Amino acid sequence: MRKKIVAGNWKMNLNLQEGVALAKEINEALAAEKPNCDVVICTPFIHLASVAQVLDANKVGLGAENCADKEKGAYTGEVSAEMVKSTGAQYVILGHSERRQYYGETVEILKEKVQQALKHGLKIIFCCGETLEERESNRQNAVVKAELDGSVFNLTAEEWKNIILAYEPIWAIGTGKTATSDQAEEMLCYIRSIVAEKYGKEVAEETSILYGGSCKASNAPELFSKPNIDGGLIGGASLKTADFKGIIDAWK
Ligand code: 13P
Repeated sequence: MRKKIVAGNWKMNLNLQEGVALAKEINEALAAEKPNCDVVICTPFIHLASVAQVLDANKVGLGAENCADKEKGAYTGEVSAEMVKSTGAQYVILGHSERRQYYGETVEILKEKVQQALKHGLKIIFCCGETLEERESNRQNAVVKAELDGSVFNLTAEEWKNIILAYEPIWAIGTGKTATSDQAEEMLCYIRSIVAEKYGKEVAEETSILYGGSCKASNAPELFSKPNIDGGLIGGASLKTADFKGIIDAWK
């Protein structure tokens, strides 16, 4: 049975003190009963080491939102996968549309980042998704396939075990406009089919694929009821404990 996952992506929102306070709260909220899914919090680099101290690693995973495409050296301002790993983090988000759009991360750069993350033992939450214009011209499948082809479909089956996919339609991120559960299911079904073409049906059935984009406690039960949706990558609603816990509780 593939893993069910709810992962938070804090993005650039909280200062260090606010982030540690939120991590403590989430940790406490999950202390009473074991959640029915894996829970991961992905934070800015500066939070990682401190947040690692306050999380019960058996209950809540920790991840970065990015890592460098290079191993080490004179790359001012960059943070390597090895540095991320050394904080206690186990995950990294790569390929988020905000990184692709605003920071020029190409499929080639992402391919290098994926290699670095794997080399240093991080699990990767790899994002893909189309713009509104691409969806309106019915190019969403081709766009998503090209993103996966260019950065992760070169991996071996062994390496693939460290990949979690997240489909995040760009038009649904932070807009309040969620993909309908049928739209999300249709795309995740397509993604699973191309993973199957590449790695075989058995591997595809074991691959966790998440939906992201205005996912909240009110729509999570409907989204998570779909057979191919294995959880969510959560932006805004991961910044408040009650909202995030509400989404986790959708896995009942
Ligand atoms: P929102 O949940 O704020 O729409 O963000 C989704 C996202 O980009 C998570 O990576």
